[in-house]
Amino acid sequence: MKALSLKRLNKVYAGGVVALRDVDLEVDEGEFFGLLGPNGAGKSTIIGIVSSLVRKTCGSAEVFGHPVDREPWEAKSVLGLVPQEFNFNGFETVNQIILNQAGFYGINRRTAHERAERYLSELGLWSRRNSVSRTLSGGMKRRLMIARALIHQPRLLILDEPSAGVDIEVRRSMWTFLRRINTEGTTIILSTHYLEEAESLCRNIAIIDRGQIIENTDVRSLLRQLTAQSFLLDIQGDLAEVPVIEDFHLMPVDDSCLEVEVRSDQSLNELFARLAERNVQVVSMKNKSNRLEELFVRMLERPAEERRKPEQIETTT
Ligand code: ADP
Repeated sequence: MKALSLKRLNKVYAGGVVALRDVDLEVDEGEFFGLLGPNGAGKSTIIGIVSSLVRKTCGSAEVFGHPVDREPWEAKSVLGLVPQEFNFNGFETVNQIILNQAGFYGINRRTAHERAERYLSELGLWSRRNSVSRTLSGGMKRRLMIARALIHQPRLLILDEPSAGVDIEVRRSMWTFLRRINTEGTTIILSTHYLEEAESLCRNIAIIDRGQIIENTDVRSLLRQLTAQSFLLDIQGDLAEVPVIEDFHLMPVDDSCLEVEVRSDQSLNELFARLAERNVQVVSMKNKSNRLEELFVRMLERPAEERRKPEQIETTT
């Protein structure tokens, strides 16, 4: 069963901005799927159409087989949305917000109370249930939005940039929670700028740029496309001079740190052996940037014609 199916989906906003061009995208039930792309790529437009907040220009969008335009209520009843903007009433308490949402979906009060306790506890908000929501921190507000989106136990949860403005500790606990509900059966789609988030959470991702899907694959094969990685090596003591090693390009970052680019056909063992021969001891090493980020930047730097897939060149709005 497809949790989400978009076929030749197009959106032209009033004023002529073409936000989506023939977007084809399918997400299987049970997936943890990432939608990546730079600002203005069209991610929020896709999420808006799927959640009936934005009207499509043409094409189709279905949530668990329900077309969002012809069966909006059925589509909404299986969908939970966590938008980027906090859109709850800041003068209501956490509990009121959750229970009102349950009422909107016709959930009886007992079930609503049980679920509110479960989700607020799991998201670390139970002790704040009687707090007026505007007094919560940014991270708590984000978790409140997640609890609210789950109250009707949707089969598909969509999160638009869930980590925006959330500190690292909260982000990690939110990831643990999302992984758990995904394992328990909720399909999750998230849009994110944080490639570390996509790499850590998602099995499959689609990359969208200027309204077109330019890549749709699993994270592992995407990372295999990375033909070279840059590493930063911390060196014991100060470097008198930058070692010259055939085939490896080493550059000084400072007195005790070197940057090196290693191609996928080269071996780190070889590099370390050659450094050891020159009495250079590496005490620690890290990727210069997140691997997915490196790939992403390279991909977006490719000329537009190269990036488009053949079927997308043939079809226009
Ligand atoms: P993303 O979520 O990837 O940042 P969006 O879907 O918000 O991208 O935007 C895609 C394009 O559509 C951008 O060029 C944006 O400026 C434009 N856009 C978004 N919303 C509107 C709107 N309400 N009216 C006109 N143009 C819009």
